Amino acid sequence: MDADVVIAGAGPTGLMLACELRLAGVDVVVVERLAERTGESRAGGMHSRTLEVLDQRGILDRFLAVGEPQPVGHFSGLYLDFDEFESRHPYPLMILQSAIERLLEEWAGELGVRVRFSSEVSGIRQDEAGVTVELSTAEAAPATLRARYLVGCDGGRSTVRKLSGIDFPGTEATMTALIGDVELPDLPEDYVWVRRCAGGDWSAIAFEPGWYRVITSEYDRVVDRDEAPTFEQLRQSLVRLAGTDFGMHSPRWVSRFNDAARQAATYRDGRVLLAGDAAHIHFPAGGQGLNMGVQDAVNLGWKLASVVRGRAPESLLDTYHTERHAVGERVLHNTRAQSALARPGAQTDALREVFGSLMVFDDVNRHLRGMLTALDIRYPVDGDHLLAGRRVPDADLKTSDGTTRVHELLHCARPVLLDLRGSAELAKVAGGWADRVDVVEARSEDEHWPVPGVGEIPAPAALLIRPDGHVAWAAPAEGAPGVRALRAALTTWFGPARHG
Ligand SMILES: Cc1cc2nc3c(=O)[nH]c(=O)nc-3n(C[C@H](O)[C@H](O)[C@H](O)COP(=O)(O)OP(=O)(O)OC[C@H]3O[C@@H](n4cnc5c(N)ncnc54)[C@H](O)[C@@H]3O)c2cc1C
Repeated sequence: MDADVVIAGAGPTGLMLACELRLAGVDVVVVERLAERTGESRAGGMHSRTLEVLDQRGILDRFLAVGEPQPVGHFSGLYLDFDEFESRHPYPLMILQSAIERLLEEWAGELGVRVRFSSEVSGIRQDEAGVTVELSTAEAAPATLRARYLVGCDGGRSTVRKLSGIDFPGTEATMTALIGDVELPDLPEDYVWVRRCAGGDWSAIAFEPGWYRVITSEYDRVVDRDEAPTFEQLRQSLVRLAGTDFGMHSPRWVSRFNDAARQAATYRDGRVLLAGDAAHIHFPAGGQGLNMGVQDAVNLGWKLASVVRGRAPESLLDTYHTERHAVGERVLHNTRAQSALARPGAQTDALREVFGSLMVFDDVNRHLRGMLTALDIRYPVDGDHLLAGRRVPDADLKTSDGTTRVHELLHCARPVLLDLRGSAELAKVAGGWADRVDVVEARSEDEHWPVPGVGEIPAPAALLIRPDGHVAWAAPAEGAPGVRALRAALTTWFGPARHG
């Protein structure tokens, strides 16, 4: 074997997955088609749950140092209040995708991830023992890599998905959008946000001094996706929508996207898995795609590592599909709704006004915010505690060594049994998993914890937290902790006990 896992694609998803696997001691190679980074940035922001995920790994400060917190988010261009809510990071962080990739690549380097540029996956053969990955490289001779698993993080047109014969059903595009980073000397305003007009809408967002990100969306106008977009097309589109090009010049890059929404029928075919845009594409409304890819990676990383290291059965990988396919389905659904709400016309104008008037209600705002930020995700985990399956709140804790936070306990990407009542019984049960699960005894600084989509709940007596920050088991504040359920959760998620 050349590696335990080969990852196709060094975008945000592939890099995050590689880091998660390395943290768990897995040998991983990332192969990337490009010779070097292009500097292009489709995404321009990250949401609360992704910021929390980076915080769980102790690398959030690097992103906060580069990005700019925003006071609001949006649903189909309608502003969504991001005031105080149940996260330490209650804001979208404006940060370019190129910066996200640079920071993830730096972290990957520190962890010893091998990234091979100019290496394009062109063939796959899987058998009982592993996967042979054929690569087209800059060298004349074709290269192959042999690994136990291959993960396709190779974007919306994923070669890995196609070669695996995995279906990609969904809905066709109904519009065409152009995006370009340009200079715009005659724009009379600093910022134009989703200006609606007869054929669609346009925005001009000042990202850095001197240049703007221009986005034009034209409905019922679908162009050939294989034709490369040009600066002139962007200019003409802006003229059609805004009546002028505002003296647009000096494009840094131009790209095209649309509202086609498709999702892989399965995220796993034997030893081949899919994550990120390779598994789902959709209208980029609300800025969810990169976030979802990073979170796919964090869900898959520890599971794949456990299977590779022989600690859990292969069936654990099926929970990756179960959990993340449902999340993807929901995002496709909300982006279809956002696309419908963006169509031009008097009827949609009226619908937007009504929808916007509903968004001022706290409950509506909270619901949409939970959905866009992914903070309200609940995986189908056994147990009826309100925290079961949800992401663990980042509560303040006191331990014998001083103060800490729940998310800080996850820096090493290992499962944690957090005992908030000092129960000898729990520690004894967890003894069988001592090689895999860290037991932390602490006191919660707060009697109640805020849970997105639920409200305040009494701090639990104990929690079993998966490396991705989701709760595998929780003991209620009062009453017996339920050690049988704890033992079952430990076995389900982290394999059988070492002895007994
Ligand atoms: C206009 C626009 C704005 C957006 N804004 C946001 C936003 O604000 N927030 C957000 O969360 N998302 C946003 N998105 C979505 C986001 O850009 C994507 O979801 C994200 O890039 C997906 O990351 P990925 O790593 O899965 O795939 P990609 O970023 O597409 O990376 C895939 C990588 O695989 C490589 N590759 C492809 N084929 C092969 C092969 N055969 N072998 C080896 N390597 C290969 C590619 O070169 C690439 O480097 C936006 C998208 C658009 C179009």
